[in-house]
Amino acid sequence: MYQAPKGTQDVLPDDIAPWRYVESACHRLAQQFGYGEIRTPIFEDTGLFLKGVGEATDIAEKEMYSFRDKGGANLTLRPEGTAAVVRAYLEHGLYNRPQPVKLYTLMSAFRHDQPQAGRLREFHQWDCEAIGEEDPLIDAELVVLLWQLLDDLGLRGLSVQLNSIGDAACRPQYVRALVSYFEAHERELCPDCQRRLRTNPLRLLDCKNPQCQPLIAQAPRSVDYLCGPCAEHFARLRHYLDLAALPVTVNPRLVRGLDYYTRTVFEVWPPTVGGQSTLGGGGRYDGLAELLGGRPTPGVGFAMGIERVILNLKAQEVPVPPTPPLAVYAAYLGVAGKDQSWRLVQRLRQAGTSAVVATGDRSLKAQLRQANALGAQWALISGDAEVEAGTVQLRNLARGEQETLPLDEAVARLTRVERVAV
Ligand code: AMP
Repeated sequence: MYQAPKGTQDVLPDDIAPWRYVESACHRLAQQFGYGEIRTPIFEDTGLFLKGVGEATDIAEKEMYSFRDKGGANLTLRPEGTAAVVRAYLEHGLYNRPQPVKLYTLMSAFRHDQPQAGRLREFHQWDCEAIGEEDPLIDAELVVLLWQLLDDLGLRGLSVQLNSIGDAACRPQYVRALVSYFEAHERELCPDCQRRLRTNPLRLLDCKNPQCQPLIAQAPRSVDYLCGPCAEHFARLRHYLDLAALPVTVNPRLVRGLDYYTRTVFEVWPPTVGGQSTLGGGGRYDGLAELLGGRPTPGVGFAMGIERVILNLKAQEVPVPPTPPLAVYAAYLGVAGKDQSWRLVQRLRQAGTSAVVATGDRSLKAQLRQANALGAQWALISGDAEVEAGTVQLRNLARGEQETLPLDEAVARLTRVERVAV
């Protein structure tokens, strides 16, 4: 027997309601904020992610699903959304449109990570990007968009964590300060951090190993090293968030795992913070387009993890609207009854009413059992006597009441029922 691969999950019809709830809120809110939907391929050239995510990141070093296809191309299942969206922006000349270009996508992503609660190998993200704008107002808009989505869904007690990690002008000086600080304490660092010190020193601040926490707490802060333009950008971002009445926590330890971030970084945390708990995060990536071969183009965006949001909806016991119930189940006895049931579901479905027709030659009892299992509100039962008389039995499955009606009347009533019920 095969099983779904480790770190992946099936979503069965009984579990789909929170997915629909979250995804429809994402579509609705993105549209409300003026973001257009984009869909990009599930795999891209491996080089795109090596450049776009950064070769010295955990994702590129350990987590990518890379393969060579039958034509010899080096491809990778996307581990995140931004690099592909920026690639599409450049490829389709979207820089010729009025800027910024605001895009969103609901997508699956793949990382070969150690699976645990809230950490999967195939997971899903809502990814929002605003490309071609430097104004910190757009950074603020994205922070508000992520927060409002989570708030609209009914999650409470969230906190918005914000930091600025500077740009090409001031970050090197900060990174030097960081490296010399950690070098002085190198033997106290975990083995991963000793390696990061050489490859990606900013990532040390992100380390979850308890051994490194006291050192991280005392480390130099990027906000103290910002150049004039970065400091101004950060101040204006906080001003716009104030005007939007969004409470944020400036967190000098916040960095992002991806290399291309400049200036703004942010995350939204649920009330109980643990290693795998961040609901979503993002930041500014002014260097990315150029890295991918385009002209220098500012950009900012975030990704939110759908599975994590659903875990939090469950933990906070947020009521989720159920999927619409099935209206009608058409059952039958005999060949003529089966024909009549089949014709009836055509009429109902064409009128927009959800209807399922029984199949096979199960007993009426077994058919009604299935109707109940499907959550049907009504059953239509056709046998020889009904066909002869041009009628059908209409049964209210919740109440168990049954009446005989002319076909047209039954159809008219059920199409009305559906319109009222949904
Ligand atoms: P990142 O692209 O790493 O910034 O991730 C953005 C969001 O995607 C995180 O805040 C999580 O909610 C979600 N996420 C990232 N990695 C995983 C994973 N392996 N499994 C489930 N969700 C994830």
